[in-house]
Order: sequence, then structure tokens, then C-alpha cells
Amino acid sequence: MEHESHEEPHRGRLASSFDNVGDHIRASLDRIVAHCAEEFDCPISLVSLIKSTEQSVLASFGIEIGDVALETSFCYHAVESEKPLIVADAHDDTRFSENEYVLGAPHIRSYMGYPIRHSAGAFVGALCIIDSRPNRFTPGNLSKLETYARVIEDILELHTKNLESQELAREVHDQNHRLLTSNRILHQAEAVAKMGGWELEIGSDQLKWSDGTQSIFESRRTEGGSLKSSIQRYEPADQRKIEALCEEAIRSGTPFDFETDLFLAGGRQKRVRIAAERIEAEGTHPARLVGVVQDVSETFHSRMALRHAAEHDSLTGLHNRFAFDRLLQQRLSTSQELHDTVAVLLIDLDGFKDVNDAVGHVVGDIILETVAERIGKATPEGGFAARWGGDEFAIVLPPGISNAGAETIGRHLIEQLRYRSEISGHLIELGATGGLAIGTGGTSVKELVRRADTALYHGKKRDPGKVHVYEAGLERANIARQYALNEVRTAIREDRIFPGYQPVVELRTGRLVGFEALMRLTSRTGRRITATEVLPALLDPTLSREVSTCMIEHVSTEFAELDRCAPALDFVSINASEADLLASGFAAQFIAQMRAKRVNLSRITLEVTETMLLVDNTQAVRRVLSELRDNGVGIALDDFGTGYSSLSHLRDFPIDKVKIDGSFIQSMVNDQHASKIVRALIGMANSMGLGVIAEGVETETQSRMLQQMGCLLGQGFLFGHAEGLSRLTGGRYRDHKLQAVSSAA
Ligand code: C2E
Ligand code: CA
Ligand code: CA
Repeated sequence: MEHESHEEPHRGRLASSFDNVGDHIRASLDRIVAHCAEEFDCPISLVSLIKSTEQSVLASFGIEIGDVALETSFCYHAVESEKPLIVADAHDDTRFSENEYVLGAPHIRSYMGYPIRHSAGAFVGALCIIDSRPNRFTPGNLSKLETYARVIEDILELHTKNLESQELAREVHDQNHRLLTSNRILHQAEAVAKMGGWELEIGSDQLKWSDGTQSIFESRRTEGGSLKSSIQRYEPADQRKIEALCEEAIRSGTPFDFETDLFLAGGRQKRVRIAAERIEAEGTHPARLVGVVQDVSETFHSRMALRHAAEHDSLTGLHNRFAFDRLLQQRLSTSQELHDTVAVLLIDLDGFKDVNDAVGHVVGDIILETVAERIGKATPEGGFAARWGGDEFAIVLPPGISNAGAETIGRHLIEQLRYRSEISGHLIELGATGGLAIGTGGTSVKELVRRADTALYHGKKRDPGKVHVYEAGLERANIARQYALNEVRTAIREDRIFPGYQPVVELRTGRLVGFEALMRLTSRTGRRITATEVLPALLDPTLSREVSTCMIEHVSTEFAELDRCAPALDFVSINASEADLLASGFAAQFIAQMRAKRVNLSRITLEVTETMLLVDNTQAVRRVLSELRDNGVGIALDDFGTGYSSLSHLRDFPIDKVKIDGSFIQSMVNDQHASKIVRALIGMANSMGLGVIAEGVETETQSRMLQQMGCLLGQGFLFGHAEGLSRLTGGRYRDHKLQAVSSAA
């Protein structure tokens, strides 16, 4: 049975292949069965096909019969057993005695069948003779029946062969068609990809070109001549390399992929990519080098343009920071091999922001271009320069330069950048400060640049207009900076930042009128830390923004409580950072945060310093301040007198009060000059209708002097230190008056 299930589908399929044998073959088979009936003197003969579920009749004599179920088929037994079958008397045979064709027409009694084999091997049917009389056929008749069965097999095999050849013809036709189409597709692909194929017969050195290759080479020939002659059309500097790659591919089978320039008639040039691999000999085909050539001029040029754009600063054409890092990394790697030094010089322009403000961005840009050009010219052979951002530039000096040599070049560069001219009535004076660091191959890009930056940062503060060489001592300041950044960063994360409120009072009465919210933080060990102690963090663009967000949040939340502690409170001021004023949406966010806590905006003051107004983008700063001012927020100019102290700032920005810097207040008692300045500042503010607050008031004398000069408000240790909300709720300001609390923390 196992055998059966295995065999049947296969047999069924083969048997069915004779369903359409055609009239010709059918006629032959009909003649054979007629002949058999006559030969064996019986009424019925037929050729059956045994399929998976039924028996069908391929040719018959003496009976018209359609498909028959396999259970009732006599032939099925012959086919299944793969042997001839003789039934002497169906009535005596238990397999057939109940068969419908035995009990009914054609009343079979005798049967002899010879199985028929398909040329593929399986038995698919039988030739049989049938009689309604018993004991008609004997084994002696078998060999004759076998002969006819064989003839039938031959005839059917013919049909099978015929089918196969038809199939083959169809396949050949299909394949031809596919080949034609794929050839066409290949041509199209070649054209679209600007690509072509080539083949070099190893040994004969004959190059064959496809259509695509011909058009890339702009040649009408399909033969590319010898390998050597075709290589001569490539960029001379690459010819030896290409030749070597071809030789290597021929010798060892290593494939290659190479890009170079192809020279055409008239000196024109294309950028091409050549790739090839060796194909081993196969049948009549000898070993070959099979390759493609692709015209990549377009992508090459856009790639080059892209690369240039990605690596250069659009304004000055110098390398950008990204390219600088990459080039410096390369330089450091080679210097490591050569045990050489690498010198990095960072240059920062002095006074450029003023210039930009005075003459506008367009002229500012022209100045930057000029500066870049001078830097480019002054950068010695073997070095390279980059625009580092804004008005900062970076230069890598030639490899192996000595410390003294590097400093000399730096000084020369700075000299070249001194700039003095008059543009539309403005006197333009520019200078530059340099920071120089020299490292070895073991130094990282980051570290080397950081050292140059440290030198520049400190140099700019100490002695601008010179070249400053990095020294380890500078790290101390840096350590302080790192400490500050770290302290504030973790304090923000752990919610240890809070506002300390320092009172602003009416000098004459001591009445509290305002608070300045100053950033305070509690260290992990519980120590209270002032803003001064972590000042670098408040100058850091990212951190200072986070501090502001935090402070605004606290002040807005605590405002109602502050109001309860000090009923005469008029305003609370908050310090802005430069980054705040440059951040888009700062004003809107500030306003929204205050409104969310129902704080009346006209009771809030934002303190800004003059340096914040001196940024490149004054327009943006003015917009932010105006938006706040329009919504009622007061704007105070902090540290007044220490900066550029330009009256134009008071006029150009929406400022309504000034805070005179504490340093003047403290020195004015003994310093005529300082007291003159304070008097002038107060007079100026009053005459412009601006409010004045004196900062850093520590003594009664100072307070008295200020009152005489016409200053109404003051702030300082004399009136109180900055205290957190929890310390203010003790009722100290409830009586509107303040005593000197110089002993406070
Ligand atoms: P500032 O805005 O000028 O703040 C006044 C500084 O002087 C405060 O230092 C204050 O404690 C201190 N001070 C007050 N009265 C006296 C006095 O009578 N004598 C002396 N010698 N000093 C006095 P603090 O809090 O350390 O803040 C330093 C600077 O840090 C502030 O100067 C301000 O520029 C900045 N800052 C403070 N809080 C914040 C803040 O929340 N955000 C931002 N961005 N900066 C802040
Ligand atoms: Ca302030
Ligand atoms: Ca101040």
C-alpha cells in the first residue's frame, strides 16, 4: 500500500498525458484493439488508462464505456501488480464475482490484460481482451497480447517524445524571447547607468566592448584594441595602478574596482569607474577578464561639490570645523609615526562684535572674508586653516615645527589681522588674540584643541591682541570651570537649585520695594553655594538656560508667598543669561510660565547686562526684550557702568531701570573719580526717566551719599543678603522696614 500512495500521483499524471494523444494515434490504437478482438476471438478489447481515482479508456472495440471507478476496474489489478492478469471465470474469482460489470452488462466472465508502461517507467494502463464466456484465455495467449501491448507502448512513446519536443521548442522560443528582451534591457540599463561592459580574452589580449562602453569611450568600434592601448586613455598618474590591478586580476583572480579620469578626443575628460573580475575558462570559452566601465562624471562632480560644501565654510571658503577635526586627526596619526609635534593655533577676533553692530552684517561678512583671506595667505605651506565658527579661526601649523617657530608664525598671523579702517563714517578697529598648543601624536584632537582654547580663553581675558601659549598652570582655572559646570549640572538634576531673594529698598525709609532673585544651590554636603562660586556655569549657554528655566519656575511659584511675606513688595527681578536672550521663544515661554502661576507680569523685572546687548544678533535680543516689555515686564540694565556704558543702549533697547554696579558704590567713598561716575550715572538715568538702583550698598555712609546724589533705591548687604523663601517667612519684612542685617549669612 505504501508503494501505491507513492506511485499514484506520478502514474496519474503520466496516464493523463495521453488524454490528448490526437486523432492520429487514437486511430492506430483503435485498429490495434479491433485486431486483438479478432485475433483472440472475443467481443471486447480496450486500452485503459489507470489514473489516480478512475480508469478512462484510450481506445476500445465492442463497447462504449466512459470512466470507471478503480474498484470496479479489472485493468487496475494488472497495473497495480505490474504483471499480466488472467481471470478465467469472474464468477469464481472473489475479487470480481460481485463486480457490476460481471453481474450486469457486459457480463464479463473472462479477462486477460497486459500492463502498459510509460516511457518514463511507470505502468499507466493496460491492453485487455474481454469475453462473456468463461475460460476463454490461457497463459499461452499472453505473449501475443504482450506484442500488441509493446506496440501500443511504442506508439505512446512517440506521443510522449512529440510532447517533449514541443515543450522544448516552446522553451527555446521563450528563452530566445527572454534573451532578446534581456539584451534590450541590458542596452537600456547600460544607457541609463552610463555603463558598459567589456571582456578581455586572457591570452589573446583582445578587448571586446559593449554598446555602452563604446559610447562612454565615444568610439564606433566594438573592439577596444589591446588592454595597454585602452589603459593609455586613462589619467596618466593612474595608468600603472590600473595595469597592475588588471595583471593581478588575471594572475590571481582578485577583482578590482577603481575610479579615474578618462581622456577623450579634444582634451575632454570623463570620470569613470572600472571594475572587473576573472571568469574561468568554460567549455569553448577561454578564461576572460570581464568588467564594467561606468561614467560617473555627474555623481563625481556633485560628490565633489557636496564634499566641498560639507567641508568648507560657505562664507570664507576655509575648511569648516568638521573638516578641521578630520585633517587634524590625520596629522596627529602621521606625527605619531614620525614622532613629530603638531601645533594648533586658535584665533579669536577682538572687537568684531562691535564692528558688526556698528556697520551691520553685510559689511561684517566682508570683513570676515578679508580676515580669512589674510589667514589663508599667512598660513605657511604644509599647514591648513579653518573657520572655527563666528569670528574664531583655527590653524594647524606645518608638521614638526618648534615651539619658538610656532609662536613666531602666530605673532605674524596676529599682526596680519590688525585692521583699521573707516567704513561709512565708522572707525573699524580689529585685532586678534591667539591661543597656541603644541602636542605630539599621542595627544587627541579634542585635547589639543581644548588646550589651545584654554590658552586663548585666558589670554583674551589677560592680554588680548597677543599669542598665548598653553601651559599646565592654566588648567587650574579650567578645573574651577569644570567644578562649576558639574556642581550646577547635578544640582539641576537633583533639584538643589533655588532662588535667594535679596531685598531692594527705598534708601530713605529702608522700606522693601523689591527682591532680586539670585541663584543659590545647596551642595550635596548641605553647604550653601552662591552664584559667584559657580559663575562659569551661568555663562555656559546650555546650563545657563536650564538655570533660568529653574529660576523662573521657582519665582513664579513662590511669588504669591513672597507677596504675603512683604506686603509692600513692588517687584521681583530675575537675571537673564545671554543664551536666554538668544533662544527663540524665550519671551513667550517666560510670559507663559508667569501667567500659568497667575503672576502679574508688571511685577516682574528681567535683569540684563550690557554685554548681552552686544551680541552679534542684536535684532533678536531687541525683539525678545520688546516682547517682554510689551507684556508689562520691566527691563533692568544690570552692572551699569562696567561695560561699554553706551547711552545708545539705553535708547535702543526697551530699558526702564539701571542698576549701578557695586564696585563703584564701594570705591566712591574714597575715590573722587568713582563718586563722579556714580553721580553722572544717576543724573543721566534720572534725566532719561529711568529708575536707578545702587547695588552693593554695604555701609550707611554709602547709603547717605547715594541719597544725596539723588538715588532712591539701593540693594546690598546693608539691607540684607539673599535668602530662600523659607527664611523670609519669619515676618522680617512684614513691618515694611528693614534694619541693617550685616551679620546675616
Ligand atoms: P548680579 O546680578 O550683579 O548680582 C549681585 C551680586 O552681588 C550677587 O552675587 C549678590 O549676592 C552680590 N551682592 C549683593 N549685595 C552685595 C554687597 O553689598 N556687597 C557685595 N560685595 N556683594 C553683594 P551672586 O548672587 O553671587 O551673583 C553673582 C552674579 O551671578 C550675579 O550678579 C548675576 O550676574 C549672576 N546670577 C545670579 N543669579 C543668577 C541667575 O539666577 N541667573 C543668571 N543667569 N545669573 C545669575
Ligand atoms: Ca542682577
Ligand atoms: Ca549687578
